[in-house]
Formats: sequence, structure tokens, C-alpha cells
Amino acid sequence: MFGRKAAEKLDDTAAALHKVGGKAGDAVANAVIAPVRRHIDTGCTRCAKGKCKTH
Ligand SMILES: [Zn+2]
Repeated sequence: MFGRKAAEKLDDTAAALHKVGGKAGDAVANAVIAPVRRHIDTGCTRCAKGKCKTH
């Protein structure tokens, strides 16, 4: 149902939220994005691109 493209979108959105909202953005990401992201069996797509700031 969810693929790598969706994971990529979610990871990018989480990163954008962090950039814009800092801790508050992270809280939103954890509440809204994380539950969905957990259903996707794909590693962090930002790590794969070397753009990840959280891992
Ligand atoms: Zn990562």
C-alpha cells in the first residue's frame, strides 16, 4: 500500500517540519507522520541520500 515514494515524502515532510518548527515541528511529525511511517518497511530515505540530520 505504501512504497518507497511515500516514505520519501514522509521523511522529507518530517525534515521540513523540523526546519520550520524545531521542537514543535518534531512533535507534529511524531504525532502525525511517525504512525504512518512505521507502516512502511523502508529504511530512512534521507539517510540513503546522505541528507539526514536525525540519524
Ligand atoms: Zn535518517
